[in-house]
Formats: sequence, structure tokens, C-alpha cells
Amino acid sequence: MAKRDYYEILGVSKSATAEEIKKAYRKLAIQFHPDKNPDNPEAEEKFKEAAEAYEVLSNQEKRQRYDQFGHQGVTGNGGFGGGGMNMEDIFSQFGDIFGGGGGFGSFFGGGGGGGRRTKKGTNLRVKLKLNLAEVANGVEKKIKVKRHVVAAGVTFKSCSACQGTGQIKKVVNTMLGQMVSSSTCGVCGGSGQIVDKKPAEADARGLVVKEEVISINIPGGVAEGMQLSMSGKGNEIPGGIAGDLLIVIEEIEDQVLQRDGNNVIYDLYVSFVDAALGSSIEVPTIDGKVKIKIDAGTQSGKMLRLKGKGIKDINGYSKGDQLIMVNVWTPTQLSKEERTTLENLRESENFKPDPGKSEKTFFDKMKEFF
Ligand SMILES: [Zn+2]
Repeated sequence: MAKRDYYEILGVSKSATAEEIKKAYRKLAIQFHPDKNPDNPEAEEKFKEAAEAYEVLSNQEKRQRYDQFGHQGVTGNGGFGGGGMNMEDIFSQFGDIFGGGGGFGSFFGGGGGGGRRTKKGTNLRVKLKLNLAEVANGVEKKIKVKRHVVAAGVTFKSCSACQGTGQIKKVVNTMLGQMVSSSTCGVCGGSGQIVDKKPAEADARGLVVKEEVISINIPGGVAEGMQLSMSGKGNEIPGGIAGDLLIVIEEIEDQVLQRDGNNVIYDLYVSFVDAALGSSIEVPTIDGKVKIKIDAGTQSGKMLRLKGKGIKDINGYSKGDQLIMVNVWTPTQLSKEERTTLENLRESENFKPDPGKSEKTFFDKMKEFF
């Protein structure tokens, strides 16, 4: 699904001030708020979309990155591959935008049936280190996590404090007259249920800690700081849905190959003799060693390209390349005989530098490659 432009979503110009952005978001949030649009998935989508746009545009740094790189620039945060935010995040992050301590719950709480939200367990976050080959081609990993799960044998009963609604309603007198305000029930935490019977090893909420091995497919092309989310693999909560397992990618730096976007750069050193006479040389790539040909008369600074030997694109099927930067090594120590040989060549016409017009400068080469 193509993502809409964040400015377009909020209906503001690219030069909008922070205040204009906040106002625009507030308007949309009220219009599409789930309490006002019960069982309306379209409104919920719009609500989430606006929250995601606001999350980025209200943050100076993220907004700058978005302006410069578009959606790509900000996918590292707030969900992977445009997964977006969940309702829980939105309420916890932006509750304050609606002003006053009460927030939205009390705003619309009076409207019949609204107010009760599905409770969600907390998210679990794990770091996952990947080497360059794993980053490049993707990999299946098994992750050990300790999560809270509802213990076997636990039974629940309706919460008597809120009669199972999860909300405590109260009538308050305001300047505008009487308003019904509702807040989350403190006894059951909003789920409307409390533990009836539980096994000895479970805690007061009926939960036990369980170690699980979870298998995850990491797609090729991920990068440092990216966050993958497995929904429902976080902590469980009685009477609600389980939180998510968030996997934060850490790249292990490779000793010889350097990542540059989807390309991989390798610094190759060849001897002066190999550069002059030509040679065949083995170079490391992500998928193992590859033999390349060095033409006779190769200059230092020449760049060679191994097509498709780079990193998979996270959004597509294409692959980056491996760029090989040729450096000609000048000997730093010479034996007596070597010195004599070279002295004999010093005045030779062929050994005098003659870059001429055909020889491109370093910057021209860079332009050609990127
Ligand atoms: Zn309750």
C-alpha cells in the first residue's frame, strides 16, 4: 500500500508551523476518534494515519529527515515497513494534546457504549545483532524471550467495582452544565475482569513468566536501528490481547566490507607490478571470494563494480552492487637490487605520469557511480 504524504494527511503546507500542525492533528483526531466512530474501521485507519503523520511532523528531527528522505527516512521508528502505530501507542503518546488531565476518555465517555477499550499487554523489546551477510540476504533467527502469559487453570470473574465495564463513570458539574466523565477502573485496570482462581505460581493478575523460543524471518536489507514487530508475541494480559515483540536491529560492522546504503565498498590494494602488468586477484564478497581481473595499466583510484553483489533492497527485489576501489601500493622498503632496477626505470618515458584528457578525476568517477 502506498503511503500518503504526511503533510497531505494533516492538510497543512510544507512550511506549516508546529502550532498549525498540532491544530490540524487535533481536529482530525477528534473527527476520527474511535469513541466517536465505534466499529468504523475506516475512521480508525484515518485516526492512526493522522497520529503517524503527527508523530513525525511534530518532531523537529524526524520532520527534517522526512522532508529530506520521505517515508524511508523515518521508517526506522514507529513501526517497520509502514506498519504504523497501534492505538495504545497513540493514546499514551498524544493523550496530552487534548489538553487537561482528563484527555479523551472523559471527553466522549458519556456517549453510549464508548470508552471501553481493548486492553493490550506490554510490548517486549529485544536487540538482535546481525552480520553483513545476514543483513544482505535476510536470515531466519530464533530468539529466546521471557514473556508474561496467562497461567493454565486461571479463571476470571466480573469486576464488581465497575460491574465488568472497565470504566468508572462519574457526573461532574462544569461551566457548561453537567458532564459525564468516565475513567479506567482502578480495581481491574479497565479489563472488567478480575482473577477468581489461580494456581500458586501465578501472580495476582494470573500471569506466569514463560521462556519461549520464537522464530523470526528477517528480510534482507534491514539496517541499524530498524524495528521489526511481531504482533501478539509480547506480554499477555488477562481479558485483553497480548502486546507485541519488537526486534531492534543492530548491525555488526564487517572487518573488510563497508556498507553504503545497498552497496558494499571494498578497498583493494594491488602491487605496483600487478597494476602495470595486469593480474587476476581474489576479492572477498558477501557471498564468498570472487576472482576479478586487473587490466594492465590500471591506475590507482579506479573503481570496479560487481553487479548484484551488494545488499537486497528492503522494499523490492533489486540488489546493490559491490564497488571495488583499486589502490596501487607503493613499496615502502626496497632491497639493493630492487632499488637498482627502479633507478634504471626512473628516466624511462613510460614511467612518467601522463594523466592526459582521458583520465577522469576522482570526482568524475564518483559522479559516474552514484
Ligand atoms: Zn473494574
